[in-house]
Amino acid sequence: MKKVSDGIFFIQGQDEFMPDSHAYIIGDPSSHDLTMVDAGLAGKGSYKLQAIKKLGIDQADIKRIIMTHTHFDHIGCLREIYAEMTNVELWVHRSEAEALEAGDDRTVYGMEMFRAMCASQYGIPEDAFRFTVQKKLEGGEILSLGGMAWECIHIPGHSAGSIGLYNRDGKVLIPGDVVYADYAIGRFDLHGANARQHRDSLFRLADLAVEVLLPGHNRIMTKVEPGYIRETARQWESYLL
Ligand SMILES: [Zn+2]
Ligand SMILES: [Zn+2]
Repeated sequence: MKKVSDGIFFIQGQDEFMPDSHAYIIGDPSSHDLTMVDAGLAGKGSYKLQAIKKLGIDQADIKRIIMTHTHFDHIGCLREIYAEMTNVELWVHRSEAEALEAGDDRTVYGMEMFRAMCASQYGIPEDAFRFTVQKKLEGGEILSLGGMAWECIHIPGHSAGSIGLYNRDGKVLIPGDVVYADYAIGRFDLHGANARQHRDSLFRLADLAVEVLLPGHNRIMTKVEPGYIRETARQWESYLL
């Protein structure tokens, strides 16, 4: 866990036999209006909460959790976080928010085989991923979060409701699992995924000036070379049909 830059803190995921997503805390701490981006894998909630304390952040200052998307490795520990943080809001893109509210967990698990594996590995009950979403994001909003402006960009493909958060001032992009470091991209075969949309989303992100890339997994990039996302999109383009 560390400070990436003013108003951006990184909590590294703790991968075990399954990946745990990174979480980010964004906003100026003096605003007392902080946002957690993504939560993590089931069982990884207390670790994230401890990391927040170690960063010197007052848990009560975290007002909302924004999900880049609702896969199990990002939303799996949300209830563990909720147990400690009361009054925290949940913001999710509309297409996955409506599924969560309806108790439709197909996006959470991605595939049926994975659902059964999670049930046996984590003892997760039926209906564990029914949540009320306080704000349904559409994409196109400029969110004012703790004294910073973050644009919400709908980038479907990895999942139907994947969003990126972009801070134009700092050239910082939080793309969820749409694009990673080292010319890697998220998988595009799970429930709600769409390869062609994933391609279009990558090229959409390629138009942004990005110097800091904070993905959902693997290493973060604090000195992104110009054209990095476009080059990644080009390398994958022929697979994304
Ligand atoms: Zn992920
Ligand atoms: Zn994902």
